[in-house]
Amino acid sequence: MHSMKYLSILLILTFLISTNKNIQNQLPEGFVYVKELIPDIVLDIRYAGSHNFVGKPIRGYKQPKAILSKPAAEALQKVQQELKDVGYCLKIFDAYRPQRAVNHFMEWARNPGDTLMKREFYPELDKKDLFSLGYIATKSGHSRGGTVDLTLIDANSGEELNMGGTYDFFGEISHHVTSQVTPEQKQNRELLKRVMSKYGFRSYPQEWWHYTFRMEPYPETYFNFEVE
Ligand SMILES: [Zn+2]
Repeated sequence: MHSMKYLSILLILTFLISTNKNIQNQLPEGFVYVKELIPDIVLDIRYAGSHNFVGKPIRGYKQPKAILSKPAAEALQKVQQELKDVGYCLKIFDAYRPQRAVNHFMEWARNPGDTLMKREFYPELDKKDLFSLGYIATKSGHSRGGTVDLTLIDANSGEELNMGGTYDFFGEISHHVTSQVTPEQKQNRELLKRVMSKYGFRSYPQEWWHYTFRMEPYPETYFNFEVE
């Protein structure tokens, strides 16, 4: 009798734990994991690790996953299909970004003493100018679930195409209009831009990797759920 009672308690506990786990893994309505829709897409979610301009994992990124609103992910699926047909593949650096991560960037930008990653990401800039120059904003399209940072890779070798300038570099070479890239690098950027535009993504003049879905379903909402 005693052991039956113990077993019942154990079963209830197991049930509660599994239910809780399901709740944790559930995305808000209207959001999807990009990998579930596009299994062959490559992810390098920089803010979940330390290879980013802050030099540490960013608040709210518990897992290196890419999440987007469903229509944006569906459009990206078409982009990937078209690129795969000509031997390329997409690689995502960031997708949905919780507001708490944007707040983390702002706190970082206001601390002039923290220049851990200056040499790689902003060698020519003063941290305090990152806001006024448009590299860091108090609100980001990424938090609306309709914006994605990405590049192109060779579908066979997995190697990134040379875009002239690396992801999240704060400087003129990252702009679409710049004299600092070669014709080949410009051509690679144009290829990404052409296919992204075709399926409804708008480019951003300051960052060759940043695209926003024009028909985003939540144009006014800045979400804060964690990436997990
Ligand atoms: Zn971006």
